[in-house]
Amino acid sequence: MKVTVVGGGYVGLTTGVCFSHLGHEVIVVEKIPEKVQMLRDGKSPIYEPGLEELLQEGLRKKRISFTTDLMEGLSFSDVIFICVGTPQNPDGSADLHQVEEVAIQTAKLMDSYKLLVEKSTVPVNTHKLIKKTVKRYMKKNVEFDVASNPEFLREGSAIKDFLEPDRIVIGVESERAKSILEEIYKNFKCPIIFTDPSTAELIKHASNAFLALKISFINMVADLCEKVGADVELVAQGMGYDKRIGKEFLKAGIGWGGSCFPKDVKAFYRIGIDHGVDFSLIKEVERVNERRIDQFIDKVKSAVWSVRGKTLAVWGLSFKPNTDDIREAPSIKIITRLLKEGATVRAYDPKAMENFRRLFPEGKDLSYAPDPYKALEGAQALLILTEWEDFKKADLSRVKELLEVPIIIDGRNIFDPNEMNRLGFEYYCIGRNTTLQKNMY
Ligand code: NAD
Repeated sequence: MKVTVVGGGYVGLTTGVCFSHLGHEVIVVEKIPEKVQMLRDGKSPIYEPGLEELLQEGLRKKRISFTTDLMEGLSFSDVIFICVGTPQNPDGSADLHQVEEVAIQTAKLMDSYKLLVEKSTVPVNTHKLIKKTVKRYMKKNVEFDVASNPEFLREGSAIKDFLEPDRIVIGVESERAKSILEEIYKNFKCPIIFTDPSTAELIKHASNAFLALKISFINMVADLCEKVGADVELVAQGMGYDKRIGKEFLKAGIGWGGSCFPKDVKAFYRIGIDHGVDFSLIKEVERVNERRIDQFIDKVKSAVWSVRGKTLAVWGLSFKPNTDDIREAPSIKIITRLLKEGATVRAYDPKAMENFRRLFPEGKDLSYAPDPYKALEGAQALLILTEWEDFKKADLSRVKELLEVPIIIDGRNIFDPNEMNRLGFEYYCIGRNTTLQKNMY
């Protein structure tokens, strides 16, 4: 089928290259010309495992093209996947102006049937606003549908998640829209839930809020583990074997970040409030997460005493492994605090340093190391903020040799505390009681 994707970011690009990989003919409309040029040259503007290969495959087979021109995109096909950003407004609600802009432009340009598909994460009933807007701005009276097809991919495994999802959710109001989307997704083996657009929109927000809740829950349990001498990793394991709970998203640490959970949890809370529903549970989920940063800073201070004048190595800047995305990454808040309190930070990340450098240019107190070991030289402690595989496989005797003081404060629990103590590290982690950590409380 012919498919138009509007927005060439993490979701739009993944959607575009995966649809072309599945045999559809795709055009991606992206408003930033530099991104479009890179994509036409077969280079991905973002790091996502496997994405560049599929992009090049699509270009080679002439199944994907890129443009800045929405008119070109709209005349290419009848199905338009809206994959633009939906950031947060100052009051926490979702800022939908990018979605509105696509709806207005589409309305003005369309001269035959179009199916607009929301893939961006939007509040429940946004499809109604899109419909109203299209009707308001359309120049020719043509038929159109609006459908909801929320995306559940995770950065770092976006291609796999897109091609092998747990489920596909499709909210439609007409048989015509249903059969078009059925055809597009016909080769997928997973369950496909057909429902109305409001339910589909809600499934996405409720899913993200629930996942955030799981993480906040286990972080709360981790706090208790530290106080009572229990091990949160084993508590999570013991809980996770219960099929009703499941193993995923029970990893204690420095909290959730990224471009989705923070804004989606806030937006979901606003939706509840706006409809007079008691969503205080969601507020608590957010509050528990916000506290993680202060708690981690306290842990660093308990470990090294004063941070002023200390050189601290930081491993991991991206909000999760396998991505270069630093949007709302805990590293931003943690490094800001450390610098403010007078520390010198030497950071390393396998993929996210370029993005981080744009926010925090190198200076006298902050530098970026070319490899993880260079970051350690003469530092008084190592802080681990992202659980990259490379860090798990680090040569620990070299780490110990390079640090001036062998202190590791691990915000992601990537090492075994007993083993670390045996190797001679002062190892502090989250919700696990090393002998040292017990003495801190
Ligand atoms: P992004 O910021 O990476 O990408 C959005 C892109 O849309 C940008 O490149 C922007 O330039 C482009 N754009 C905006 N308006 C445009 C227009 N009028 N015409 C053409 N291009 C336009 O955002 P993202 O991370 O891809 O997220 C997109 C949506 O998908 C959001 O609603 C997000 O919540 C949702 N989502 C994201 C993820 C994720 O992991 N990133 C997962 C599931 C859902």
